[in-house]
Amino acid sequence: MLDAAFIRDNVEAVKQNCVNRAVKNAEVDRVVQLDAERKQIQRQYDSLKQEQNQISDQIKGAGKDKELRDSLVAKSRGMKEQLTGLEGQVKKLEDDLRAALHTIPNMTHPAAPVGTTAEDNKVVAVHGTLPTFDFKPKDHVDLFTALDLADMEAGAKVAGQKFYFLKNEGALLELALVQYAVSTLVKEGFTPVITPDLAKTSVMEGTGYMPRDSNPDTRQFYTIADTDLCLIATAEITIGGMHMDEILDEENLPRKYAGLSHCFRTEAGAAGRDTRGLYRVHQFTKVEMFAFCTPEQSDAIHEEIRAIEEKIFQGLGLPYHVIDTCTGDLGGPAYRKYDLEAWMPGRGTKGEYGEVTSTSNCTDYQARRLNIRYRQKEKKGTRFVHTLNGTAVACTRALVAILENYQQADGSVVVPEALRPWVGKDVIVPRV
Ligand code: AMP
Repeated sequence: MLDAAFIRDNVEAVKQNCVNRAVKNAEVDRVVQLDAERKQIQRQYDSLKQEQNQISDQIKGAGKDKELRDSLVAKSRGMKEQLTGLEGQVKKLEDDLRAALHTIPNMTHPAAPVGTTAEDNKVVAVHGTLPTFDFKPKDHVDLFTALDLADMEAGAKVAGQKFYFLKNEGALLELALVQYAVSTLVKEGFTPVITPDLAKTSVMEGTGYMPRDSNPDTRQFYTIADTDLCLIATAEITIGGMHMDEILDEENLPRKYAGLSHCFRTEAGAAGRDTRGLYRVHQFTKVEMFAFCTPEQSDAIHEEIRAIEEKIFQGLGLPYHVIDTCTGDLGGPAYRKYDLEAWMPGRGTKGEYGEVTSTSNCTDYQARRLNIRYRQKEKKGTRFVHTLNGTAVACTRALVAILENYQQADGSVVVPEALRPWVGKDVIVPRV
């Protein structure tokens, strides 16, 4: 969330930012009003408390004067009641302020393209040559089925539509992608972690994911009945929560993690989009990069994470482009976001790019909610860290791109060289 004082001092800029980001329900004026009220009540509380302390001193000094003592004690008791009332008001105003702050998105990097439609996204890099086939290429569903690499029917039987079993080399390819991504990140100085697949509501909210939506038609996350837990949508949530309520040392920044988790998404609102196959599913495996750093480091680390994402997809030999995401598609926490879209020959009628990774610089927006600070090396005091996240590999999307790009006329699929050590073969051939 943004700092209430920053909003108070930059009301017009914050409102314009909400317009650019197509956020319609932002309670900017309410934040300013609630913040002022909270301060006023807090001032009343502080001055009454001071008065009460003075009376306590007077009680001590009243000696044997019983009458004076009794009247002072009665006065002090009355004040105590008033103080409790004021305390309750401050707490309520703080809760309301926090809720209002949650409606306001992060500010935006000045270079992010302003706009709200897909056409407003800016292509900032293109890599690789689009494959040409001298046969009619299949889409990933036909390839998965023909090669017996996934079973969507069994997935639907066990957990419902959009769940699946990966089988045979399909399962091996997923494990290979995880190994390939994690070993690449370890070489880049990331600490590997395997995170919980569940998180508390407070951690979800702290990272900007709002699970408290009572409407099942719009709720994005699975919650676990009778608990305060949700199934995570990404390891960004759990890794962000790892250092919640901590003060880190500047010497140890940046801290970079490579987190493996399953990701669960209801995909409410996505009905009718990408209905075929594994492109948009309810559960997938992902290796996520996450960094905690100083404000001075975050722009450079964002570029570094993007470069690693490119390196991973170059290593897989997949053609892709990178888009600088337009303001309307940034979501709440991101200050700037790059998406890598890989070429998927089976997508649409003639092949299309499909999103395979996404990296965001969230500046101090998540850290303020999660209360993660760092102790400064040269100066006194603490500051909020900046947090960044980026997909190293989201397995099912990567599998879609690999199968469709590496297919051959005889129905076989070549295994990308980088994955062969883990898959144990060069080519996946139809089973007989
Ligand atoms: P996000 O955390 O939404 O930025 O997603 C990170 C990456 O996960 C995306 O770039 C996709 O590659 C992948 N992804 C997101 N949603 C899904 C889904 N429902 N099914 C499969 N992969 C997904």
